[in-house]
Amino acid sequence: MNKNTSKEQNFWENKPLNELSETEWESLCDNCGKCCLNKLENDEGEFFYTNVVCTLYDYKNNCCSEYCKRSVLVPDCVKLTPDNIPMLGWMPKTCAYRLIHEGKKLPKWHPLISGNQQSVYDAGAGISHRSIKEEDAAFGTSYR
Ligand code: SF4
Ligand code: SF4
Repeated sequence: MNKNTSKEQNFWENKPLNELSETEWESLCDNCGKCCLNKLENDEGEFFYTNVVCTLYDYKNNCCSEYCKRSVLVPDCVKLTPDNIPMLGWMPKTCAYRLIHEGKKLPKWHPLISGNQQSVYDAGAGISHRSIKEEDAAFGTSYR
């Protein structure tokens, strides 16, 4: 019997974020897309999400179309790390990285719990059907 089985299977409950492998780290993202929405901050430091998403967001695959080059192509795209999560007050409350950092459980629709990606969208946690791309917003044209 592999002694590490339980720890590895539920790694998000058994390991701190800074000990996750790259694969484990990436699998924590549920591809909700909320972090790719433009946000507004008021004078009190409160954040408000718009329904306008980054131009590089890929609606078909529900993820960044240029993930490896995102920081170069979109300079204000913040690359999440275990170190900067505590400082990113704008991260959505449902974000798995934020939840784990705050010692909370993943929602039952998270792919690591449900076993499939579709559960995210069935739960209404994705942005695809309630957002528009920056280029569409700029010209005041089509809602998807
Ligand atoms: S908000 Fe969090 S879980 Fe959702 S896409 Fe962004 S990083 Fe992934
Ligand atoms: S560059 Fe990619 S990861 Fe960054 S906000 Fe845009 S779509 Fe999201």
